[in-house]
Amino acid sequence: RVNIWWLRRDLRLEDNAALYHALQQGIPVQPVFIFDTNILDDLPSKDDKRVAFIHAVLLKLQEQLSNHGASLDVFHGTPREAFEHYSNKYKVVAVHTANDYEPYARERDSEVAKLLALKGIAFHSWKDQVIFEKEEILKDDGRPYTVFTPYSKKWKAGLNDFYIKSYPTSSYFTHFYQQEALAIPGLQKLGFNSDAYKFEWPKIPSAIIKNYDKTRDTPAIAGTSRLSLHLRFGTISIRALAREALRDNETYLNELIWRDFYQMILWHFPHVVGHAFKPAYDHIPWRNNEKEFDAWKTGQTGYPIVDAGMRELNTTGYMHNRVRMIVASFLSKHLLIDWRWGEAYFAEKLMDYDLAANNGGWQWAAGSGCDAAPYFRVFNPALQTQKFDPKLEYVKKWVPELDSFDYPQPIVAHDFARKRALEVYKKALNED
Ligand code: FAD
Repeated sequence: RVNIWWLRRDLRLEDNAALYHALQQGIPVQPVFIFDTNILDDLPSKDDKRVAFIHAVLLKLQEQLSNHGASLDVFHGTPREAFEHYSNKYKVVAVHTANDYEPYARERDSEVAKLLALKGIAFHSWKDQVIFEKEEILKDDGRPYTVFTPYSKKWKAGLNDFYIKSYPTSSYFTHFYQQEALAIPGLQKLGFNSDAYKFEWPKIPSAIIKNYDKTRDTPAIAGTSRLSLHLRFGTISIRALAREALRDNETYLNELIWRDFYQMILWHFPHVVGHAFKPAYDHIPWRNNEKEFDAWKTGQTGYPIVDAGMRELNTTGYMHNRVRMIVASFLSKHLLIDWRWGEAYFAEKLMDYDLAANNGGWQWAAGSGCDAAPYFRVFNPALQTQKFDPKLEYVKKWVPELDSFDYPQPIVAHDFARKRALEVYKKALNED
């Protein structure tokens, strides 16, 4: 008899809600991970670094588990196939896992829960990746918030020790099901040819968090926590970070609240996947010029800050938040290219890609989202550069040929593009 702990976006043993609840039941706990072919088959490239990242984390987890006489059991296939397999292999009493708010995940989990129910196996899903979820922070009239500031006020008012305390999983590690370490399929076996990822467990960068409000908008320096990838896959606990933020920096705490906010929006308004949050914005006649889209993707627009950002993304799989806002605004306003094209490109390239945050960020920049920048606010790349990279340190790092003849002329003049965007948006939204 075992309880299964199904890991997904909570790849750690410490302070883990689903694992804690599984360990509490007094039945040996068997950890499982599924390389889900429904997800993997849709990835645009066979050298996806995120798959390599997950793979490297699983190897580390396997080391930790074997210190406790336990083993991960990794499956490659669909979740349905996986649970058919596991329910034959083990005498499973219940499956414990962590909530996931994305549309695919919701469908997957309800399908798995039904399948398990037919076999008499219970399915329990726990909140782990956010501080407040779904219906925990609602307006007084019971409806979900769509504006960030009042949401964040209620979020802060609702916070107490209960929500940020750590789950003491390590006190119960003797409850793991005991078996020799099982093999984890290699990346090649999974159909990927990515290089191995060098993974180390992250530490909370306390000094950066302390100064966060002063340093977060300067892309040339290490002024942000760079934890988005770890929050995405749960290799760090959101509760540990929230405790630190609460003590040390309210601006940083606000960023964590944005993260909860967009997960909550995705839960209540799943139409944001593929549609504007505000329906009128689905009527914008995008220009969708493929050549301009290519210039944007490859960092050849002739706007140095935009090109620097896109090159940082293409090279590292990361882009600074300030620059994400600039390049997203540039694509949707200056070039009038559908924000969904940009959203999809980020989804392909970002190591920290997260459906809720990415969609929220893109809709914010395009003006179509909840609590977005009003459409008439068009970022001026030159002014943004003066303000946030005055010495061009960030720009020159990624665009070293800036002052040479090799660097392209601006793809479109700023004043012209700004006027054009305002006219197109205004007409589509029927606003006078
Ligand atoms: P920090 O500044 O140190 O912030 C700490 C953490 O707070 C981040 O790791 C992240 O988890 C969260 N956070 C910060 N800002 C936001 C935000 N605006 N929305 C939601 N969560 C936030 N973030 C992603 O994690 N995945 C994405 O796919 C993603 N796509 C984006 C697309 C666009 C167009 C924009 C404008 C923003 C996007 N963001 C995304 C939000 C933000 O840019 C990144 O979270 C941040 O740059 C990651 O760097 P960091 O870990 O140093 O963040």
